[in-house]
Amino acid sequence: MTLDVIQLDRLVRQIPHEQLSSRRWFRSKARQIADMKLEDSAALVAEPGGCDAALLIVRVSFADGGTDELYLLPMLSEPDASGTPSAEAEGIVAVRDPQTGAVLREPRDGDGVWRRLAAGLAAEMTLTGLHGSFVFHALQPVPQVRLERRLSGEQSNTSVALGDRLLLKLYRRLEPGQNPDLELPRFLTRAGFDRVPAVSGYIRYIPARGKAIVAAMLQAFLPDAVDAWQWLLNELVVEADPDAALGAVGRIGTITARMHAALASQADDPAFPARPASLHDRRAWRASANAQLERALAAAPQLAPRAPAIRAAFDGIVAATGATLSRIHGDYHLGQLLRSDDDFWVVDFEGEPARTLMERREPQSPLKDVAGMLRSLDYAVRTVARGAPASGSDPAGSLSAARQAFLQAYVSGGMPIDERLLRAFELEKACYEVHYEANNRPDWVWLPLQALDRLTREG
Ligand code: ADP
Ligand code: MG
Repeated sequence: MTLDVIQLDRLVRQIPHEQLSSRRWFRSKARQIADMKLEDSAALVAEPGGCDAALLIVRVSFADGGTDELYLLPMLSEPDASGTPSAEAEGIVAVRDPQTGAVLREPRDGDGVWRRLAAGLAAEMTLTGLHGSFVFHALQPVPQVRLERRLSGEQSNTSVALGDRLLLKLYRRLEPGQNPDLELPRFLTRAGFDRVPAVSGYIRYIPARGKAIVAAMLQAFLPDAVDAWQWLLNELVVEADPDAALGAVGRIGTITARMHAALASQADDPAFPARPASLHDRRAWRASANAQLERALAAAPQLAPRAPAIRAAFDGIVAATGATLSRIHGDYHLGQLLRSDDDFWVVDFEGEPARTLMERREPQSPLKDVAGMLRSLDYAVRTVARGAPASGSDPAGSLSAARQAFLQAYVSGGMPIDERLLRAFELEKACYEVHYEANNRPDWVWLPLQALDRLTREG
């Protein structure tokens, strides 16, 4: 069953808007979709533009008239609706052509589409679309795989296990230019940092005009991986082993220092600068910190009495003349580390999803990552205490122990810490959290508010 481009475009336009916007990987959930249309399509087997399975790029425009977004949709067509899946039940995009009865839908495990992508990587194939082509690159030999299993769980992209050695991460929201999620792990491996899964291939879409877009990355699959957030909570709650947890937090500090040292180790590479932060840089940091405070105040006016102390701490950013800049992880928290093989691995280098790709590739203070991890540890400790209020646990004590274990290991790993600058970044992050929680999980606002209280008192 092969669909032509005209049919494909018609079907794409018929995808219910709320189906697309409710998918986990759809970024702009708060914006109202005005229109969707086929930007390009490349058949995985049939002739160019025809479809049995195909990689589609869909352009989404919004009612607010703001910037369009491009999304990658791997799709396949079935001749009739007999096996019509419930898009809702499966969490996939699916649409039925009222004229022909054909169904266009995202692949399921076992359809063989993911396997076909792996074979394409092994063969370094090129898929020709209408306005560009998908080019497959292998950095290492890609073995033939039988098993294909889409990972479930909290994700902003779509990751598929291929056999037991490989993971294919398909980027959904497509942005032109270098993707740090591909760029940083490759660089880190080259720089000798071994706590990141090795990249073994990638797929780029090269449009006839404009910059290439990274559409997918192939990396080493970590067996039996759980993220460090789940692992740590399990260690604290189920295993009730605070010493093991503390040791692990120290290990994360060591790994973080090694990652930051590696990121700053090749300053002659123009994509990986490492230099002192200028006055101009520090003023920009202060401005963005103050902007977070204003958003937090708008969301939680009860923060107002703390605002002068927070602003004073942000002024300290400008005074931090020893601060340095380099590429950083950019969205660093316990959920971005995986526990596998009795150690931790760092993943997901895309950076903060709300920022543009260019912003996410800017050099930053490594202490922003450190602050992110400290905030994550605070969340972990408070989550444990909230779950077991009768256990007599001492969240303040656990937090300060965890904080110390992490920072001590980080410093022992050779990375300097300016305490005042670090505290300012923690305050900034907590302000961001106040705004986030107020809008998404109002019964958690107390947590960052409490942190702001503590951090301003300690400061
Ligand atoms: P996203 O951008 O979709 O959040 P992540 O890179 O954070 O993607 O990965 C999402 C989840 O997929 C992780 O939390 C983890 O459970 C799993 N995962 C990611 N990378 C690997 C890997 N190399 N091996 C095994 N599982 C992984
Ligand atoms: Mg992630």
